[in-house]
Amino acid sequence: MSAAIPALFVSHGAPSLCLEDNLTTRFFSGWLNGYGHPSAVLMVSAHWETEGLRVTEWRHRPLVYDFRGFPEALYRMQYDAPGSPELAKRVGALVSAAGLGQVKPDTQRGLDHGAWAPLTFLLPKADVPVVQISLPVGWKPQGLYELGRALAPLRDEGVLIVGSGGAVHNLSTVRMDSDEVPEWARVFDEWLRENVLEWNTQDLFDYWRMAPHGVQSHPTEEHFLPLFVPMGAGDCAREAKIAHQGFMHGSLSMLSLTFR
Ligand code: ZN
Repeated sequence: MSAAIPALFVSHGAPSLCLEDNLTTRFFSGWLNGYGHPSAVLMVSAHWETEGLRVTEWRHRPLVYDFRGFPEALYRMQYDAPGSPELAKRVGALVSAAGLGQVKPDTQRGLDHGAWAPLTFLLPKADVPVVQISLPVGWKPQGLYELGRALAPLRDEGVLIVGSGGAVHNLSTVRMDSDEVPEWARVFDEWLRENVLEWNTQDLFDYWRMAPHGVQSHPTEEHFLPLFVPMGAGDCAREAKIAHQGFMHGSLSMLSLTFR
C-alpha cells in the first residue's frame, strides 16, 4: 500500500502555521489518509543549504528552531521522530550510483522548521523515521530534479519524498495581517500550476527567465528549489496534481503538489 504514496511538494508558509488551524493545516493533516503510513520520510527543506550535498545520519537529535520573533510556544514545539542511518546510507549509495557525487553525512544537525513544521500535521505521532537532505549551494533546478530521479527507487520501499519550501516566497512583500493577494503573486502561482501539470520541465528549470514575475516571486531561490526533488522522483509517471492551493499573509503561496 505505502509504495503508492506520491512524492510531495509543500509550501510551509510562516513558522506560526504550526499553531494554527486553517485550510492548509487541515490539508496537511488529512493528506496521508488515503495512502497509509510511509516506511520513512526523506525531506529536503528550504532551510538547510550547504556546500555539497549532506544527509542527516543520526538516531535522535533535538529540533532546530531557525526563526526569530515568533510566539514563545513555537520554540517549545517538539517533534521527536527518529532518524534512520540506514536510509541515510541508501541515499548516499543511490546518489553516487547516479554519478551525482558524494553525500556527506551530518551526525549533528536536527530537523529544521521547514522539515518539522509540516510533519507535525502530516505525521503527528512522529513515529516514522525522518532523514533530511540538504540543498547544495549552486545546484540548479535540473540538478535537483536529477537528484529526485536518483532517489525515486526509495518510493518502492514506501519512503515518502517531500520537498518543503514555498511556491511564491518574497519575504519583503509578506504582510502578516493581510489577506490581499498581489496580482504578480497570483499570476506566478498560476503559471507554476499550469507548467507543473504539463510537466514542462524546460520552462520550469529556467523559471527566472520564463515565468511572469519569476524573480519577484523568488528573489532568492531556496524556497523554490525543493520542488524539483519530489518532481524528479515522479519522473517515471509524470503525473502531477494540485493537492492544495491558496495564499496567506498577502503574497505567501500555500500551494502543495503531488507527483505520482
Ligand atoms: Zn521557509
